[in-house]
Amino acid sequence: MAKTVHLKVVLLGDSGVGKSSLMNQYVNKRYTNQYKATIGADFLSHFISVDGKNVCVQLWDTAGTERFHSLGSVLYRAADCCILVFDVTSGASFKALDSWRKEFLLQADPRDPDSFPFLVIGNKTDLRSSSSEVVSKRAEDWCSAHHLKYIETSAKEALNVEAAFRDGVRLALKRLRSEDQTSDKFDQIQLTPDEDRGQSTCACG
Ligand code: GDP
Ligand code: MG
Repeated sequence: MAKTVHLKVVLLGDSGVGKSSLMNQYVNKRYTNQYKATIGADFLSHFISVDGKNVCVQLWDTAGTERFHSLGSVLYRAADCCILVFDVTSGASFKALDSWRKEFLLQADPRDPDSFPFLVIGNKTDLRSSSSEVVSKRAEDWCSAHHLKYIETSAKEALNVEAAFRDGVRLALKRLRSEDQTSDKFDQIQLTPDEDRGQSTCACG
């Protein structure tokens, strides 16, 4: 049987943009309107097959508050892809992406800051209005200026969610291939801050 590649994907963005909802929709195929703030950081594992490769994606969700800063490098360390999420109905959440991106690069300190894979998600397209069209356009421009991939989703209506995470995984795999370090990733489970929890939660172990 083909070996499994373990990837760590970090979701960043202001609180309330839908990071937890996107993860929950992607992994558990569920959506709830109830707002439940993520405390600190949490992760979910998901097993998928992409381009003939078995991949275990470990998705790290963060609280969009200063609280997570204390987790800092633990959260970002050894990430293979960073997903920046904003809410298409909130211009402020889009504006914050630049500092989230810088913060990630500072803390994760990847070998390849200029080509590190970021995926930008504009979420809540089900609430689209004329003002969100403006935000979408600005996001498209910003992403093309920084050579970042951009995709719009609705966690609520399960629109594009699967495709967005698949794109994120593809970007991460491409980076691993180009650095020819894929073999280091085989059969290797990312260590988590809490090992016990990590082992029991990594469904793809
Ligand atoms: P997080 O703080 O980034 O993790 O955001 P949450 O996932 O907790 O979502 C914040 C709020 O926005 C919750 O009340 C969600 O139900 C709602 N929400 C998330 N995604 C969507 C979406 O695609 N459409 C709509 N209409 N609401 C959403
Ligand atoms: Mg959350």
